Amino acid sequence: MEIFKDFTFDSAHFLPHVPKGHKCFRMHGHTYRLRVVVRGAVDEKLGWVMDFADIKAAVKPIIAQLDHRVLNDIEGLENPTAEVISKWIWTRLRAHLPGLARIELYETPTSGCIFTGAQ
Ligand SMILES: [Zn+2]
Repeated sequence: MEIFKDFTFDSAHFLPHVPKGHKCFRMHGHTYRLRVVVRGAVDEKLGWVMDFADIKAAVKPIIAQLDHRVLNDIEGLENPTAEVISKWIWTRLRAHLPGLARIELYETPTSGCIFTGAQ
């Protein structure tokens, strides 16, 4: 079974490699929404895959590095597309969250990225 927990963070960014006329070349902000999906068996006694609080504990320190920051200033996020940010989060989260199956990063309510650790 899969369970998920959603998080939000507010960050500024710009995309340095797009043409200068592209709107994303200019500094702007997003309220990002991050969905963290964990897959596992439902524990027979507890009745859950994992305590949601454990997901929160693993994700919170990573969000703290991104929230109210200029993403371009963060090592590894010099070109902070949703794809690059997703990979950056996944790399940091994987070791701390057994069963991590997928993350979904929404840059806007209608645009985002799904990453499962592969391509
Ligand atoms: Zn943007």
